[in-house]
Amino acid sequence: MIQLIRGFKDILPDETPTWKHIEETAVALFQSFGFKEIRLPIVEKAELFQRSIGENTDIVEKEMYTFEGSKGELITLRPEATASVVRSYIQQKLYAKDPIQKLYTIGPMFRRERPQKGRYRQFYQINAEVFGIASPYIDAQLISMLWTFFARLGISGLSVQLNSLGCPACRPAFKEALSSLLASKTGNLCADCVRRQDKNPLRVLDCKVPSCQEVIGDAPSMADYLCDDCARHFRTVQSALTAQNIPFELNPRLVRGLDYYTRTAFEIQTEALGAQNAIAGGGRYDMLTEMLGGPAQPAIGFAIGLDRLVALLMEGLPQQELTPDIFIAAMGEETREKTFAWSCALGREGIRTEIDFSDKGLKALMKRANRVGAAYVMIVGTQEVEEGAVLLRNMETKEQIAIPIDGLVDQVKKYLTN
Ligand code: AMP
Repeated sequence: MIQLIRGFKDILPDETPTWKHIEETAVALFQSFGFKEIRLPIVEKAELFQRSIGENTDIVEKEMYTFEGSKGELITLRPEATASVVRSYIQQKLYAKDPIQKLYTIGPMFRRERPQKGRYRQFYQINAEVFGIASPYIDAQLISMLWTFFARLGISGLSVQLNSLGCPACRPAFKEALSSLLASKTGNLCADCVRRQDKNPLRVLDCKVPSCQEVIGDAPSMADYLCDDCARHFRTVQSALTAQNIPFELNPRLVRGLDYYTRTAFEIQTEALGAQNAIAGGGRYDMLTEMLGGPAQPAIGFAIGLDRLVALLMEGLPQQELTPDIFIAAMGEETREKTFAWSCALGREGIRTEIDFSDKGLKALMKRANRVGAAYVMIVGTQEVEEGAVLLRNMETKEQIAIPIDGLVDQVKKYLTN
């Protein structure tokens, strides 16, 4: 038997209603905050991610699915969506129409990470990105929108982790201070962090290896290095969140795995999922549009991890199954033409209808109706057809009524919707 590839998964019918519910909740909410949908390819030039996410990040160093196109160009399955949205904002000149764009997109991302519970190689995100607004209030509004989103889904036990990563004016001094601390403790760092300590010392801050954690305990905090503008921005984000009654924790170790972030970085974490506890994350990326060859425009966005959210919602929740309203128990080939036509017509009327086209007896058909959880069974044998009326049985009360064949679809519809 051919099995699916490690790190990938099937999303089966008992899960898809939860996926849909989450997506619909997000779309309705995001639209009321002025977001519009954008749909983008799942492949892009490798260069897009190398330049935006950064060469010395886990994603670019070891997690991208990259292959050669027919002309030898390198093509990558997108590991995240922000770079693609920025590419489109620039390439399609969305900024010329209006520099302020609020966009969302939903779809799969691909990262060759070590698979484990809550971590897949194809996973799904809902992304929201805002271009053209520098104000710290939009940072707070996005976090507030996320908070409402989780509240609407009935998810509690969440915390907002907040940090500022500064800007090109103030980050270099912080990086230098961090680098010199790391240089003095190289012996205690893991191999990855030793490699990174010069090129990307920030990444050491969120290394999970215990010996690195110990070194990081003494690390300087970006908050102490922020320039006046960044410090003011960060203060306003915090006071705006407080004004919205959104609890947050300042987390100086929160750096996020991508290089393009500036200023506000945030993550929503849950107590419920063990090691993979981040269910959404985002931040400001004010330099990225310019870095990728577009006009300088401030921007901020976030990604919600759908897989983990589904896991959270499915836990302990009774699943609502989409069961048939009506099961047509048709006996005998002579009834087939009529029952087939009724099943199509009832389906068109929005009545969830099941029919068994094989030649079974009443007992077997009733068994099947029970198994699929039908609310009503329509019993149609040759005798019923001859007499011009079928039986409609309520599977809960066991009551049966006769429905004339003449005008059957309308009558069944009326009966079921009353
Ligand atoms: P990131 O794009 O890394 O900031 O991730 C944003 C969100 O996507 C995280 O908070 C996770 O919920 C989710 N996520 C990231 N990587 C994975 C993965 N490999 N498997 C499942 N969910 C993921």
